[in-house]
Amino acid sequence: MPAVNILLTEAQIEERVRQLGREIESDYQGKPLTIVAVLTGSLILLADLVRQIHLPLRVALLQASSYKGATTSAGALIINEAFAPDVAGRDVLLLDDILDTGHTLGTLVHRMHERGAASVRTAVLLRKVGRQEVHLEPDYCGFVIPDAFVVGYGLDYNDDYRHLPHVGVLDESQVRDHP
Ligand code: 5GP
Ligand code: MG
Repeated sequence: MPAVNILLTEAQIEERVRQLGREIESDYQGKPLTIVAVLTGSLILLADLVRQIHLPLRVALLQASSYKGATTSAGALIINEAFAPDVAGRDVLLLDDILDTGHTLGTLVHRMHERGAASVRTAVLLRKVGRQEVHLEPDYCGFVIPDAFVVGYGLDYNDDYRHLPHVGVLDESQVRDHP
């Protein structure tokens, strides 16, 4: 497997996810929380985070993909809401792996309001500096990272690396850009 330079260790991620869980738990006391996770990248974060939130909550899934296959540049956004049931009247927390340009979460925030959510907040594990095109301040953010293509802890390159317990930067020589 090509080299991955570790940016965030398993222990760092574990500790930060625990802290985010505590913040979310105290903010959503008594509210009808639905965590809407953006597949596939937020899968591992979702599993770890929900176990740190000791509140009644629902989990919903939707799929948004902007990276197709062996490329690191974004294509058109495709959203599949088949597994995101009714969010009307619910306090929605959108959960994604990483905030890059902001197009994905920006679009989904609008979509959740359209579907009648009582409130919509956003949570991301990672936020890249200097990449944002859509104005959006995530309500919960794990780590701010430099502008590099990262993999692991749910994030893939060409559908591999999601299972790594850490977040790392893929060796540039392994990444091919197809426009
Ligand atoms: P945005 O719409 O904010 O530009 O992009 C968000 C989505 O792009 C994320 O959900 C993620 O799937 C993908 N993405 C952005 N940056 C990276 C990265 O460095 N590595 C990987 N694997 N995916 C990324
Ligand atoms: Mg994604």
